[in-house]
Amino acid sequence: MQRWQREINSVIALLALALPLGYFTGHLSLILLVIVTFLLIRQTLHINALEHWLARGAFGDQREQKGIWGDIYYHIWKIKKTEKKRKKKLSRMIDRFRTSTDALPDAAVVLGSYGEIEWTNKAAREVLGLKKTDKGQRIPNLIRTPLFIQYLKSNDYRQKISIPSPVNENIILQISIVPYGAGLRLLLAQDITHLKNIERMRTDFVANVSHELRTPLTVLKGYLETLQEMDNVPNIYFRSFENMATQTERMQLLIDDLLLLARLETKAKISEPVAVPDLLKQICQESDLLEKDERRVELSINTDAHLQGDEEELRSAFTNLVVNALKYSPADKPVKVCWHSLENGGVCLDVEDFGEGISPADIPRITERFYRVEVKRNRKINGTGLGLAIVKHVLVRHDAKLEITSQLGKGSRFRCLFPAKRLC
Ligand code: ADP
Repeated sequence: MQRWQREINSVIALLALALPLGYFTGHLSLILLVIVTFLLIRQTLHINALEHWLARGAFGDQREQKGIWGDIYYHIWKIKKTEKKRKKKLSRMIDRFRTSTDALPDAAVVLGSYGEIEWTNKAAREVLGLKKTDKGQRIPNLIRTPLFIQYLKSNDYRQKISIPSPVNENIILQISIVPYGAGLRLLLAQDITHLKNIERMRTDFVANVSHELRTPLTVLKGYLETLQEMDNVPNIYFRSFENMATQTERMQLLIDDLLLLARLETKAKISEPVAVPDLLKQICQESDLLEKDERRVELSINTDAHLQGDEEELRSAFTNLVVNALKYSPADKPVKVCWHSLENGGVCLDVEDFGEGISPADIPRITERFYRVEVKRNRKINGTGLGLAIVKHVLVRHDAKLEITSQLGKGSRFRCLFPAKRLC
């Protein structure tokens, strides 16, 4: 029989005893009152004992308790035991997680919705200089690099940023943030000093080689010009000289573009007001003069907006786009250049041509260094394959984006989108 049934049976038995006793003595109500009081006191004592047992931490199996109370004790004790097991398992898991995250070479920090530190691993304490006691502190108060604070505030974590380590500025850290859960963010910092050094070595190497090639090339060009100007040069040599002059010219262009790219990668950014409308007028005029007969460039200036930036860099990027539009479209088609405002408050330069166009597969690749689209043309178009890489670099340095739309056989449009913060 179940314990609770036994409990009810004992109450019924007490009542069964009270009824004949009350009947014979004539004090049924009194006897019933005594029984109910007895039952109430008994339950109160049980509750009191249970409260004491819970207050002492609910230790030990109390199944020997009588009646339904034995079951209650037993169930509470069982729940507690399972809970204890679960806690042990959880703490083992947390320990394992801690050991593995501490073994991670990358720094990891969990941030709450206000940027407060909730958890850090060992690497975070080493390379970011955070302490265990910094828990609860807002991270912008501890890592004060402006770029980092701006990145944290932006809530746009698609790109990663590089900053020097707050403990050692020779260490370069790549920071990325991954939002998760309810307002939580995981901050990861990876030491990329080694990669940055290799990148710097590559840039320095290209810059040095290009620079060193300049002098012998100028000497060669000089001799070639003298040879070409000589009288009585046999026709066969004359054509060879012409060929050599074209190739040295091409090499000169390559070296100039490589040097410009290297400068874009290493030079500190200049930010001064640039009168873009005047700059565009000059570029369009000069580019048009390269054309033999027709004037093809149609310039429209729909805004007087000036930009904050580096005039020489912008000149080089815009010239590349206009010259490309002229190069890759037929001589009888116009090239439209338009400087106009955008609805989002920014400004835009459109360079549109009605030429051969670019296939969708090539569009993502044409801004890569040395990428030139293989097209069968009647005429050979010279180029270094570096022009659009320069354009892309310049735009990145001006917080701008390059948007390319094109249709094969119909033409292309290159858009340079500048944000409102660059206007002046
Ligand atoms: P290049 O010196 O070869 O012109 P760029 O980097 O300027 O080098 O351009 C890369 C390639 O992109 C070009 O070789 C060409 O195939 C393609 N391209 C660039 N601009 C245009 C354009 N306006 N129309 C069609 N193709 C273009």
